[in-house]
Amino acid sequence: MVELPDPVDHECLPCYLYRVGSNNPCYGDLRALKNYRDLSAPRATALEKKIMLLGGWCDCEVLANAFRPITREAAFAVDLEKELVCKGTRRGSIQPCEQWVMRRGVQWGGGRFSSRSA
Ligand SMILES: [Zn+2]
Ligand SMILES: [Zn+2]
Repeated sequence: MVELPDPVDHECLPCYLYRVGSNNPCYGDLRALKNYRDLSAPRATALEKKIMLLGGWCDCEVLANAFRPITREAAFAVDLEKELVCKGTRRGSIQPCEQWVMRRGVQWGGGRFSSRSA
């Protein structure tokens, strides 16, 4: 069994997934995400459910679908598969650092579309 690296102090979720993903294949599940949650944000119990709603069914999809790089530095790093230095996040938080933005626009719960034609 492959051991995933642990998140370092104040490393945010997408930076961690990016770092893991550049050194490991995707295993088709959320093991890196779960590893991060267990070690850095154990209270974020709804994380997997939320992430799946954003299209993150495995670790690489989380990075592809749930987060978007917003700094030039981050976009370049992702494009060129270079190393990215995390700007740091609050411990226990699943918020990304300033290099990324979490995708929004998902309605939690409900799931009912109402027509609002003019
Ligand atoms: Zn994947
Ligand atoms: Zn970061």
